[in-house]
Amino acid sequence: MSGLYTRFTSGVLFPLHERLKRHDSVAVRRSLEASQWWPPERLEALRVERLRALLVQAGQHVPYYRELFAEAGFDPSTVASVADLQRLPFLTKAVVRAQGERLRHEQAEGLARFNTGGSSGEPLIFFIGRERVSHDVAAKWRATRWWGVDIGDPEIVVWGSPIELGAQDRVRAWRDRLLRTELLPAFEMSEAKLDGFVAAIRARRPKMLFGYPSALSHIARHAERRGQRMDDLGIEVAFVTSERLYDDQRETISRLFGCRVANGYGSRDAGFIAHECPSGGLHLTAEDVIVEIVAPDGRVLPPGQSGEIVVTHLATKDFPFIRYRTGDVAVLDTARCACGRTLPLVKEIQGRSTDFIVAADGTVMHGLALVYVVRDLPGVRGFKIVQHSLQRTEVQLVADAGFDRPARAAEIQAGLKRRLGAGVQVDVNYVDAIAPEKSGKYRYVVSHVAAASPAPEAAPHA
Ligand SMILES: [Zn+2]
Repeated sequence: MSGLYTRFTSGVLFPLHERLKRHDSVAVRRSLEASQWWPPERLEALRVERLRALLVQAGQHVPYYRELFAEAGFDPSTVASVADLQRLPFLTKAVVRAQGERLRHEQAEGLARFNTGGSSGEPLIFFIGRERVSHDVAAKWRATRWWGVDIGDPEIVVWGSPIELGAQDRVRAWRDRLLRTELLPAFEMSEAKLDGFVAAIRARRPKMLFGYPSALSHIARHAERRGQRMDDLGIEVAFVTSERLYDDQRETISRLFGCRVANGYGSRDAGFIAHECPSGGLHLTAEDVIVEIVAPDGRVLPPGQSGEIVVTHLATKDFPFIRYRTGDVAVLDTARCACGRTLPLVKEIQGRSTDFIVAADGTVMHGLALVYVVRDLPGVRGFKIVQHSLQRTEVQLVADAGFDRPARAAEIQAGLKRRLGAGVQVDVNYVDAIAPEKSGKYRYVVSHVAAASPAPEAAPHA
């Protein structure tokens, strides 16, 4: 049962916060909590109606799509099924980069700009409107409540993004305090830091944890090594996302924190795509996203077959994501979930992995700690960081013509040495393009040093 403060936060404080930001997430969450039980035909009708509306807006007000539809003779008002999407080309990251502002709705206001490395490591700039934020917040909120917890329940977030940390201004700090959320930065996992994380979790006694599965299982194993119990704190659920969740990680987190583990799949660019329910089903946010599974030749595959996840986000009229290629690999399911929700299921997410890297002194850290050093430098078109050994790490770089090579290389070397150790050799090599893995998937960090905790050799077979 939720406490009084949680009910106040979920029912009053957070809705107020959302209204001040001009988000509709409260209303959207209510409607999502109704539609999750709808008969499939009714859900499908809603999706088609919203898809048609999105495409009509794009054809009228988004320069890139206006031109594209005219050239292809595509009339969005005739869209009668989700399969009609197959008449349109994919939206690749390269297209987003090349089109930029031409993907914006002409009348859009109040858009937030995002820059993400994506799975290729190449920076991707895109915009998100309030409608989209409201829907993504609402979908996450709904999934949180599936687990008997709510916004306002004490929460520990283990996260690594310095962008989010940078946003820790006073307003943000107050908001987190009111929502009873505490952020633990997951960059470095030194022994001392891990002791601090364990102590912080014990002091907070959170009802929920949120973070990378690798980071949470790492903290759990550390507590175990220290002989420190964590299953006596009343933690209900650990929400994990952003990486592939391995079975041993699920087992470790569940056993040591004494809680259930809820897997989620989504990203800033693609949206809140799927979330696990307590019956074990990984449900698509089917009201908001249309997911197609696509073969390398572009054919749409039926459920049961493995292929790339292509997403059409229905709340993106301000900056449409229509048939957006995520680079991640999954299999859809036709089975129904025991929980009774009719939202379709994902059988397996196969292609999410971020390696851990190991510093010269043995400190294990998230690969993102190195990614951020390189990703946001101006003029970086693409990169890949390869840790060959504890003593040597290589950065492969695709740079613009105007890139200040000596100065930037020194910056990268200094940044990586700060994390890996001063004595580590950091080579910066310029290349024309970053070659994908044998699997065809791009990875921006590859470590050939076996971290003690996660198992890099168990890499996804995407
Ligand atoms: Zn379910």
